[in-house]
Amino acid sequence: MSNTETHAFQTEVSQLLKLMIHALYSNKEIFLRELISNSSDALDKLRFEAVSNDTLTEGEEELSIEINFDKKARTISILDNGIGMTRDEVVANIGTIANSGTKKFLETLSGDQAKDSNLIGQFGVGFYASFIVADEVVLTTRRAGDDKSSATKWVSQGEGDFTLETVEKESKGTEIVLHLKKDMDEFLDEYRLKTIITTYSDHISFPIKMWKNETDDEGKETDKKTLEQVNKATALWLQAKSNIKKEEYKNFYQTLSHDFEEPLATIHNRVEGTLEYTSLFFIPKKAPFDLYDRDRRYGLKLYVKRVFIMDDAENLLPAYLRFVRGVVDSDDLPLNVSREILQSNKVVTKIRSASVKRILGTIEKLAKAKKPDNFNLFWDQFGNLMKEGIVEDFANKEKISKLLRFSTTDKDSTNEPRVSLENYVDRMAKEQKAIYYITADSYAAASGSPHLEIFRKKGIEVILLSEKIDEWLVSHLTEFDGKSLKSITSADLEEFSEDEKDLSEDDKKSREKLSEKVKTALGDLVSDVQMTSRLTGSPACVVSASGDMSAHMARMMEQMGQAIPQQKPVLELNPSHSLVKKLESFSDDAKVKQWSLFLLEQAQLAEGDQLENPAEFIKRMNGLLSEVV
Ligand code: ADP
Repeated sequence: MSNTETHAFQTEVSQLLKLMIHALYSNKEIFLRELISNSSDALDKLRFEAVSNDTLTEGEEELSIEINFDKKARTISILDNGIGMTRDEVVANIGTIANSGTKKFLETLSGDQAKDSNLIGQFGVGFYASFIVADEVVLTTRRAGDDKSSATKWVSQGEGDFTLETVEKESKGTEIVLHLKKDMDEFLDEYRLKTIITTYSDHISFPIKMWKNETDDEGKETDKKTLEQVNKATALWLQAKSNIKKEEYKNFYQTLSHDFEEPLATIHNRVEGTLEYTSLFFIPKKAPFDLYDRDRRYGLKLYVKRVFIMDDAENLLPAYLRFVRGVVDSDDLPLNVSREILQSNKVVTKIRSASVKRILGTIEKLAKAKKPDNFNLFWDQFGNLMKEGIVEDFANKEKISKLLRFSTTDKDSTNEPRVSLENYVDRMAKEQKAIYYITADSYAAASGSPHLEIFRKKGIEVILLSEKIDEWLVSHLTEFDGKSLKSITSADLEEFSEDEKDLSEDDKKSREKLSEKVKTALGDLVSDVQMTSRLTGSPACVVSASGDMSAHMARMMEQMGQAIPQQKPVLELNPSHSLVKKLESFSDDAKVKQWSLFLLEQAQLAEGDQLENPAEFIKRMNGLLSEVV
């Protein structure tokens, strides 16, 4: 009786396969890198599990990867004697996409192939890369330690489904046979395959071997074959820096990250002394698509004395540096270290704090370069994470604050955030008391805010904040270089009260009267009404009463479904504006109310607020307009 079962791929897998075959066509040789990388992981896992259970090695001393090709059958095969997979693991790992981030990623694809092929480069394609070159893939695998008769054979043409069959397999581990597509004969060539292996996989720490025809005494090829090692097989991070070429770092990074780009920065250190470890970190050029996913995996691999221990070692770096990829290899941790142990381990704490310093130091160097193009690239991809760092990493707050970049109202500033706090402070006038900022939902809303009018008039630079995280940033970064950061939408900008000193008693009285009049008309819609000198072009703006959170923060919390105490704005009026003067001249209560409401609502709109009753606002506006037409 046949025990063959047919399974359908998860929809996402089919979608991914189609897309990938198109997107990666010009890079097709990477299929081998991906499969070798999986084999290398499987060997790492076996070595790790065998530390506590040596029967898993099944008596095989050497762990290695073997690449064969068969010109007649038009196949390439990749063999490893690693951990292998059970039937359930095959279904879970090869038939489905478990990572929720991947699903979300697929949802974001536009269907535009050019764009999507850029995106797919940020995304681990792994095993499915086989289907770029093959129209049938046969994977036979047996989990180390399992019975020889309970191996699993998986076959697929990379379309809608795959079959599973229980078979015999003498050796543990995985064998993958690729039946090449018609136009892929270029890979049935020893030289080509060797070149791909040495280009992409030289640094894999296990031997990668190929069969070679032996030559006789006269140098002629015979039918006798021997296995020959193709790669260097020493872990890249253990080699001396001076012996490693840029190209080798790049290929190692690409295997680690599945990225197609080269890294923006490479940070390689061997530390000796009380602690001994090697770290090799990479800063990518592009943020991965799932950078903000809660269940995103971390990009660091932990090794202990060259034995792979775990992927995604999240305790080795703080969350805000989760974009860093690389390897830490420690001589001081026990081989049986678990994630729980890592959480509270002194060695880890030390490695972590030194690593953070090194990474921030490298970013600092990029920032200080004469042409900070790379830093700008970095900032545009990961700037928001540096802002998280201000909140998360108290010890390095000062260092990180120097790396922050903003858009400001300076004449040379654009919507690209390029101004540092140091630049800002250098430009401050002597008498300026604080570093001023405004938060809004977008760059346009920030830079067009009426609150900026007085600052523009007086030539005072204001930082324009429009990222979601900025409210948290300014609640944690309250000063820089001894100067406090201050929101220009708070009610107590005493710096500008001087303008009112020169007012005559009569003026002061009439301003007070007008404030009272509008306040009575608006009742409990506002907490106060004041005349202001912060406006020069607009008639009105709203500010937060001192002690209240900013209107922008309140809106964000509301969007997140948080209950916030009812906050009433302070309405500020520009006494020299013609609309306000007009309002002052009215004595009819109903009319005063209509005008006051109209001024309040337009100020709230300019602030980015939602009006409680937009229909009423439009009616009111039309009513006022029809009086003049
Ligand atoms: P990734 O390697 O990014 O996890 P892949 O699609 O390449 O994604 O592989 C999915 C999973 O299948 C791997 O995580 C691993 O668990 C399993 N796998 C793939 N190749 C092998 C192999 N040669 N030996 C054992 N397991 C493998």
